[in-house]
Amino acid sequence: MDKSLTNAPLQALEEAFHAMRARSRDEPAPDLAQRLDRLARLRSVVADNEERFRQAISVDFGHRCAVETTIAETMLLFSELRHATKHLRAWMTPQRVATALQFLPARNRLMPQPLGVVGIIAPWNYPLQLTLAPTIGAIAAGNRVIIKPSELVPHFSALLQETVAQRFDATEVLITGVEDEVAKGFASLPFDHLVFTGSTRVGRLVAEAAGRNLTPVTLELGGKSPAIIDASADLDEAAERIAYGKLLNAGQTCIAPDYVLVPERSLQAFAEKVRAQMRRMFGTDPANKDYTSIISDRHYARLEGLVADAARHGAKILQPAKPDDPNWKAHRKFPPTLIAGATETMAAMQEEIFGPVLPVLGTREPVEAIAFVNARDRPLALYWFGKDAAARDEVLARTVSGGVTVNDCLFHFTQINQPMGGVGASGTGAYHGEWGFRTFSKLKPVFYRSRFNRLADLYPPYGGKIARLEKLMRFMS
Ligand code: NAD
Repeated sequence: MDKSLTNAPLQALEEAFHAMRARSRDEPAPDLAQRLDRLARLRSVVADNEERFRQAISVDFGHRCAVETTIAETMLLFSELRHATKHLRAWMTPQRVATALQFLPARNRLMPQPLGVVGIIAPWNYPLQLTLAPTIGAIAAGNRVIIKPSELVPHFSALLQETVAQRFDATEVLITGVEDEVAKGFASLPFDHLVFTGSTRVGRLVAEAAGRNLTPVTLELGGKSPAIIDASADLDEAAERIAYGKLLNAGQTCIAPDYVLVPERSLQAFAEKVRAQMRRMFGTDPANKDYTSIISDRHYARLEGLVADAARHGAKILQPAKPDDPNWKAHRKFPPTLIAGATETMAAMQEEIFGPVLPVLGTREPVEAIAFVNARDRPLALYWFGKDAAARDEVLARTVSGGVTVNDCLFHFTQINQPMGGVGASGTGAYHGEWGFRTFSKLKPVFYRSRFNRLADLYPPYGGKIARLEKLMRFMS
């Protein structure tokens, strides 16, 4: 670990930031070869240390399923890296933009330029993916990057700091420490762009701090993402897909289905089917290596509180495994739990769950599900299950969310050609693939005027030329 970043952490960070910013101003336009080299070095950080990252993350979680780290972190990063490497030349090429008739034969070009220094604040739940995926977009766009990982994954954060420092100069890509002082001071630095992934509560603080510098932000926040089961849905299929979407990373996934709205008459049957699928996938043994632990005792206690509150308020609690086995707590694994017949007033419906607890609520008619979603903050994700295309399109048209997967969960996130981001309280801005390149670039419009067209010369004395131009414009419109 870099000693300078551990003694007076905030001061050291400020100095590192200003050094990086000075370099970004001295060398504002890294060429294709430099950017590809940075992407290749980033790839080697992940590829050469894959197993170490898997282990560090697992230590931080108590247990993190190794396959989940592979599919939801490293594979996603390799795919982003491959895609950016392949398309970077095309992305960097100034784009032709049409020129209005009266200016021809002049030309318009949209020229992507690096913004300078991008700051990234990351959460703990997918610590590798959520630190490095925005970094890929930022360095592809020619920026320099400072990353603040989460204090809840200290082993991972120290390893990221060590391995990045081996391959990058501190003015190219830098990983900060995880001290509280650094977290609080980070968003006040005058970054050229700031990416924050985390809770809506902290997102507000970050937006406020960034706003004071007029730093543009991409906010990747959380919230309650609904799954709507239409009357036309295949309940078995929906139950399987929702069970998996919910239990990946033990529900500690920003786009996990947070709760399910299901036609009242199918509620009990559906909840039973989800329970059966959860048991089939993850068994009943808390030592099961496929099932991930909860990140901390505090988070565990919060989930226990949500379930106890629901039980107190009369919901039926369904669990595939015996929850009173002390090994669940010893492994800090939370037994998958359905809250069948949840109601709006229960604590589980007041906050993002972020764990393997799934409230299931009954609806009497399809419009009720739409109204339920629209009465709340705009969700990060929405899932719709069914075969009735008209009902599907109605939900798509009348709800606004960060993204949607139809007849499954999570998969819109993995589409490299689609942007990932929230809307309203679930976030602002987006990245992934070319969307990331664009987010982290200034797309500068450049107008190359032509020697041969004097139409736009509107200098005084105006005489009759304005009238002639006006006539022409009216004729053309
Ligand atoms: P969090 O908001 O508690 O912390 C996120 C990061 O912010 C951490 O690095 C933390 O140290 C830092 N931080 C804390 N206080 C800060 C401050 N005052 N100024 C600047 N930074 C500060 O979130 P978390 O618990 O780490 O992550 C869980 C949340 O993240 C959930 O709400 C989840 O939905 C959301 N999330 C969203 C996405 C997405 O892509 N939209 C992805 C993953 C997680």
